[in-house]
Amino acid sequence: MSDDKKKTPKEDFDLPSLLPFMTSFVSPMMQQGSHLGAIESSLRDRLLGESARTLEASLNEEILRHPAPMVCPRCGRALEDKGIKPKEITTLFGTITVRRRYGYCHHCKKGDFPDDRRLGLDESGLSPEVKRLSGLFGGETDFARGSELLWEASRIRLSSKQLQRVSESLGEEIAQEEEADVGPDHHPLPFGRTIYIGMDGTGIPMQARETRGRRGKQADGSSKTREAKMCDIWEANRVNKEKIPVKDPGSVSYTASIESAAQKDTDLELSAFGRRVEREAARRGVDKAARIVVIGDGAPWIWNIAGEQFPHAICIVDRFHAKQHLSDLSKVMFGAKSAKGESWTRERYDELDQGRMDDLLKNLAIYEKTFPEAKRCRAYFENNRERRRSPEFWAQGLSTSSGVVEGGCKSVVGGGSRSPECTGAFGEPIVSWRFDAASKAADMTHSGKDAWKGWRHNPQENPRENHG
Ligand SMILES: [Zn+2]
Repeated sequence: MSDDKKKTPKEDFDLPSLLPFMTSFVSPMMQQGSHLGAIESSLRDRLLGESARTLEASLNEEILRHPAPMVCPRCGRALEDKGIKPKEITTLFGTITVRRRYGYCHHCKKGDFPDDRRLGLDESGLSPEVKRLSGLFGGETDFARGSELLWEASRIRLSSKQLQRVSESLGEEIAQEEEADVGPDHHPLPFGRTIYIGMDGTGIPMQARETRGRRGKQADGSSKTREAKMCDIWEANRVNKEKIPVKDPGSVSYTASIESAAQKDTDLELSAFGRRVEREAARRGVDKAARIVVIGDGAPWIWNIAGEQFPHAICIVDRFHAKQHLSDLSKVMFGAKSAKGESWTRERYDELDQGRMDDLLKNLAIYEKTFPEAKRCRAYFENNRERRRSPEFWAQGLSTSSGVVEGGCKSVVGGGSRSPECTGAFGEPIVSWRFDAASKAADMTHSGKDAWKGWRHNPQENPRENHG
């Protein structure tokens, strides 16, 4: 312990050379009339360069003086020292060359860099901090833009391709962790409370190789998108001004991927997405809840999973999605922004919110002969009528909106679809990474990785979120 203490650098140690340096840097610039912005940015570049140089020197000196033990990480045998192999590493301060030793294990017939292992370096050539930041920027927006922002914010120069690779590798790590970890997370278990499970699917643009051979909506039967599916679990114990329950901050956890939810009655195994939902439910302790509510947009796969895994759940069609069906239909029948369409839509919304399903179905049936869309819409409400009994649900103190799922899906898809030509669209691991980034944005706390520390969710960005 005392040994460790000696080795820890003191936080308040002096940099005796810094003040004279600063003065000699700042003073001539001010005398030439530079404003602080110019001083800041040239000082930053200068300090970064200086730090990179000295960091490189001290790292290499330390490696030389105290090299990591030359031991094979696989079998524990001694490695044959094959000398120094320098490698360029991008760090927060710039690119440095690390002169680390290479060793070879004759038993495993594999080489290793013990110093890389000690420093947390991998084959990417990026320092751990640079990797973490690349993950944040790559998860937030498309890769070309992410690479620009990374440069502006931190003077780290990475190509959009590099950013994509980092996001992909983080996505793969996350996927592996998710499958391995089904222990309870640190959300309080919902004993005696109501827990909400939202599910949603959304088409996302994909690279051609990801959709090859899949049937889709393109004229030639091919597909440009694949459906990402998302499950999120939350609690809603607080109410807003209208006495409608809203989700508890910090209670939301997400999981998502591009997986099939297809399930036949004769299948003994759950679908891949069904298993994902099962794992998330196990982590959240859903079986301890007094009430389980499943909220979805009305897609049959959602009710299938609900029926299979949560047979006692109250199933609710998301209020926003239900209304979306009506406003879409109104546009088809009366044109966008027509006064008639608007008043028609308002009346149908009222029927929906007041639970007057017979009236709603009757009013849709009127247009059935003229518009096939009206027929489809009526069938949708007919099929989901038991799941859209708003007044009854509200009387039970239940939330009927899955805004949080929507928000998560949108932020993920939005990040890439703004400019798919820049991103080369998505690969599967990216989706996993982006969804995880979105989870962080919504305050999710279940995973052990901390690559996204500092992500914040702004509820203003998603006005639907707190609607009942
Ligand atoms: Zn070995």
